[in-house]
Parts: sequence; C-alpha cells; structure tokens
Amino acid sequence: MLVFDFCLSLSLQVKENGKLYADLAQSSFDNGEPFQNQPQPEGDDGIPTICYCGSEPVVATAYTEKDPGRRYFTCNNVVDGATHIWKWWDDAVMEEMRDFQTEIRRIKEAVAEREKRYC
Ligand SMILES: [Zn+2]
Repeated sequence: MLVFDFCLSLSLQVKENGKLYADLAQSSFDNGEPFQNQPQPEGDDGIPTICYCGSEPVVATAYTEKDPGRRYFTCNNVVDGATHIWKWWDDAVMEEMRDFQTEIRRIKEAVAEREKRYC
C-alpha cells in the first residue's frame, strides 16, 4: 500500500510538472511580443501536444505511394504557409514509449531505494 501511494504521488508529481511546462509554453504566447512560428526542438520529442502556432496538433493519414495509410501529426492551420508541426505518428509514439519506459525505470528505482530505507 505504501509503495502504491508512493507511486501515485510520483505520477501526480509528473503530471504537475507537465502542467507547469504547458503553462510555461502557454505564457510565451501571452507576452505581447510579435508572434512567429518557431520550431521548438525541445518540444519535438514524443507525441506533440502543441503546434508552433499554438494550435492543437491533429492526426492525418498519408496517401503517398511511399507511405500509404501511414498516419502523421500535422496542424489545421498548415494552409497559411507558416511553419507548423509535422511528425510521423509512429515515430512520435515510439519516442513517447521510450520516455515512458525511462520514467517507469526511474520510479521503480526510487521505490526500491525507498523500500531499502524504510523496510
Ligand atoms: Zn500550427
């Protein structure tokens, strides 16, 4: 039960951090400076949650000869000709899984360390 509560508090912490980053990302859109769609490499890892333009990415399907039926993240505003998010869906999911595995490993290590100390 203790271990469960500990995991729960860690996962809440992770969620809170995620919210903090989202708030930080949001605040950069509210600072009154002229807005330009700048690619943000640090935000490109895993499943994209926000486009460079501030919109929520959408999933579309490729109908090219090379990648028929392959899904990708794009933006509904792409028609304006500015730079918008574009990423293969499977690449994004693989990155997300890798990050998730790293996070799980970190949590397991933290739990093991805590059990060693208190049990
Ligand atoms: Zn966009």
